[in-house]
Amino acid sequence: MNSIASRAKNVSPSLTLEITAKAKKMQEEGINVISFGAGEPDFNTPDYIINAAKTALDKGITKYTPASGTVSVRKAICKKLKVDNDLDYEPVQIVVSNGAKHALHNAFMAILDPGEEVIIPSPYWLTYPEIVKLCDGVPVYVSTKPENHFKMTAAELKAAITPKTKALILNNPSNPTGVVYNKEDIIELAKVLEQTSIYIIADEIYEKLIYDGSEAYSIAQYSPKLKEQTIVVNGVSKTYSMTGWRIGYTASNAAVAKAIANIQSHCTSNPNSMAQYATVEALSSPEGLVFLDKMKSTFDRRRKYISGRLDSMNPLTYVMPSGAFYVMVGIKGLYGKKIGNITINTAMDVAAAMLEFANCAVIPCESFGADDYIRLSYAISDEDIKTGMDNISEFLKKFN
Ligand code: PLP
Repeated sequence: MNSIASRAKNVSPSLTLEITAKAKKMQEEGINVISFGAGEPDFNTPDYIINAAKTALDKGITKYTPASGTVSVRKAICKKLKVDNDLDYEPVQIVVSNGAKHALHNAFMAILDPGEEVIIPSPYWLTYPEIVKLCDGVPVYVSTKPENHFKMTAAELKAAITPKTKALILNNPSNPTGVVYNKEDIIELAKVLEQTSIYIIADEIYEKLIYDGSEAYSIAQYSPKLKEQTIVVNGVSKTYSMTGWRIGYTASNAAVAKAIANIQSHCTSNPNSMAQYATVEALSSPEGLVFLDKMKSTFDRRRKYISGRLDSMNPLTYVMPSGAFYVMVGIKGLYGKKIGNITINTAMDVAAAMLEFANCAVIPCESFGADDYIRLSYAISDEDIKTGMDNISEFLKKFN
């Protein structure tokens, strides 16, 4: 029989599949399972964007577009980058892809040679190492500490750099920690990176979901040199609740953009034509700000509610997130304890026990580089959050 490529064999299977499958089975049996796994806003895409897509269809915008995306959408992205991030890009520096995930894949395809290292602060979004490996790179993890709010320090970054380092992934705000590097934090990292030629893959997909009044600061803003080194990755998935539309993009120096566009032209031709049309509207209409304000204040309220509940849930711990829509919960205090037939030794055990005894599906963070944590998403309804937190509170009382 023909064998499978080692590239494909090296992709890690999802640890959460088992939990998801079991949760689904319980739901089919009529059990009210609360899923804290959501990775997308629980809001509909705003009507003004949906109407733009309808207009696109009526206008016959149903054909191939330029590989990098239409000039209109790339111009709208340039305007967004100027207004929101004070970054000057020309349309030729933008490549629009099928979601930010695809933009990340394109970026690594364009810059990595076999064996080159990519620094990934840990905990990390589980897709990063897999994309790096698929592109023949080597992930190099930098462990961050809860006492530093899971932020990588300049010293930790410096210590991880080797002659083989090609890139750093800087996900701000971060999935799964919800950490936000503020301007001062970024400047400290920027000072180290400016002495190198390392690419910075700045994944800013959650940039609009920052609470506590702070503002996103892109590392590309620091200096013209760092802007040259940075590949900004962003998209409309989280900001406008458009996860299914599959529109993301990179903004980079022109040479990298050209390489990415060439790769994309042979892999997917171009992103979806009507979704590009709707994205112009998403980015340009003032209605976007109204939608975003509402979504953000909802997430903020839930964030405060969940953290308030966690405060009284010994022995669970957490670091207050200031961005995205996740909270990472430390479960180490449960190790060695027993509930039903399950003795807790891992985050996966906690997830299995929470499903069985609290009817809550949570994400164990082993594959996010955070062995002793689970992740709760608050992109689910207020009602579900309340029921879920009540259930978890009762669950904790059942340990012996
Ligand atoms: N980057 C991070 C950190 C994410 O959490 C996600 C989605 O969960 C993405 C990128 C992918 O976004 P998209 O849906 O646009 O591919």
